[in-house]
Amino acid sequence: STGRTQEIDVVVVGAGQAGLSSAYFLLKLGLRPEAELVVLDADAGPGGAWQHRWRSLRMRTVHRIADLPGMELLQPDDDAAAADVVPRYFAAYEARFGLPVHRPVRVSAVREGRDGRLDVVTDAGAWSARAVVNATGTWTRPFWPYYPGRESFRGRQLHTADYRGPAELAGRRVVVVGGGASAVQLLAEVSAVADTAWVTRRPPVWRDAPFDEQAGRAAVALVEEAVRAGRPPASVVSVTGLAMTPAVAAARERGALERLPMFERITPDGVAWADGRTLAADVILWCTGFRAALDHLAPLRLRGAGGGIVMEGTHPAADPRLHLVGYGPSASTIGASRAGRQAARDVMALLGQAGGRAE
Ligand code: FAD
Repeated sequence: STGRTQEIDVVVVGAGQAGLSSAYFLLKLGLRPEAELVVLDADAGPGGAWQHRWRSLRMRTVHRIADLPGMELLQPDDDAAAADVVPRYFAAYEARFGLPVHRPVRVSAVREGRDGRLDVVTDAGAWSARAVVNATGTWTRPFWPYYPGRESFRGRQLHTADYRGPAELAGRRVVVVGGGASAVQLLAEVSAVADTAWVTRRPPVWRDAPFDEQAGRAAVALVEEAVRAGRPPASVVSVTGLAMTPAVAAARERGALERLPMFERITPDGVAWADGRTLAADVILWCTGFRAALDHLAPLRLRGAGGGIVMEGTHPAADPRLHLVGYGPSASTIGASRAGRQAARDVMALLGQAGGRAE
C-alpha cells in the first residue's frame, strides 16, 4: 500500500474480546492512545465476531460471555440476540475507556521492518511498531473439510459462518456435519423445522457434569500443552464436551440426535457412505469449525514443523515482539480477557527493556 508509515509503539490488530482487553491493559499500564497505541479492526462496527452471529443465538443459548476487564456486561435479557447485546457492550466499552480503535482497517501483512520493528501493512496506510498484539480471532477463517464430489452437489452448502437462522432451511432435507457445540446448537433449531440428519467423524461426547472452574482449567491446560509443543490448537470447546441444554434435549426427544458416521463422498443428490448407503439432501450445513485467522502473519514464518506455532505464554517462543491473544488456550471470552493482561504486561516490559518509550 502507499502513503506514509506512522511510527508507533504498539499496534493491536482486532477489536474483539481479545483486542479490547489487550488495549485496555496497555492504556492502563501507561501507553497514550493514538500517539503510542492504535487498535486496527476490519469490521464495520464494534462487537468483533459477535456482530456476525446468527440472530437466533440468544443470550440464554451462548455458553457464557465473560466480562471485559473493568466493566461488567450487566445481566442482559436472556431472550436478546447475542448479536445485539455484545456489540452494544463493546461499543460502550470502547467509548468509556477511550480505546483508539480505527475501523474499518484491514491488516494485509505484518512483516519484519527496520531497526527491529514490525511493519503493519493495511488498506489505510502502514504503521511501524515496536510490538504487535494480534487478536484476529477465527471467524474469518471457516474450515470446510474436503470430501470427494463436493462440486457436484446440486443443493446448497453453507458453513456455520453463513448460517442466518432456521427459517431459510424450513421444510428442506438438511445434513448437519460436525460434532462440536455449534453443530449441536444448529441441529437443535433446524431439526424443529426441517428434516435433518447428523453426521460426525467421532461419536459425540456429552458432558454430564456441569461445566465448573476445574473442568474449564483442565480443558485450557490441554490446549496450552498443544501450543507449547507447536501443534495447531484444538478449540477449547472441543475438549470440554457437549452440553445437554433444554433445546438440545428437545431435539433428542424428536430423534434428531441419532448420529451417523461420516459419509465418504458427496453426490449430486446427497451424500453416500462406503457401504453403499445413500441419503438424499437439499442442504449440507458444515458445522466444522474455524481456524486461527493468521494469514497476514505469514511473512514472519512462525509455523514450525508441527504445523502450529511454538508458543511461550501469549507470544511465539521465537518472537517476543508479537503476541497472539485469543489464540489456542485463550480462544474463549474468559481466556481472551486474561491473556490480554498477560500480553500487555509483557509488551510493556519489552518496551522498557529496549530503552524506554518516547515520552
Ligand atoms: P473476534 O471476536 O473474532 O474478533 C476478531 C476481530 O479481529 C474482529 O473484529 C475482526 O474484524 C478483526 N480482524 C480479523 N482479521 C483482521 C485483519 N486482518 N485486520 C484487521 N482486523 C481483523 N466463547 C465464549 O467464551 N462463550 C461463548 O458463548 C462462545 N460462543 C461462541 C459461538 C460461536 C458460534 C463461535 C464460533 C465461537 C464462540 N466462542 C465463545 C468463542 C469466541 O469466538 C471467543 O470466545 C471470542 O469471542 C473471540 O474473541 P476474539 O477477540 O479472539 O475474536
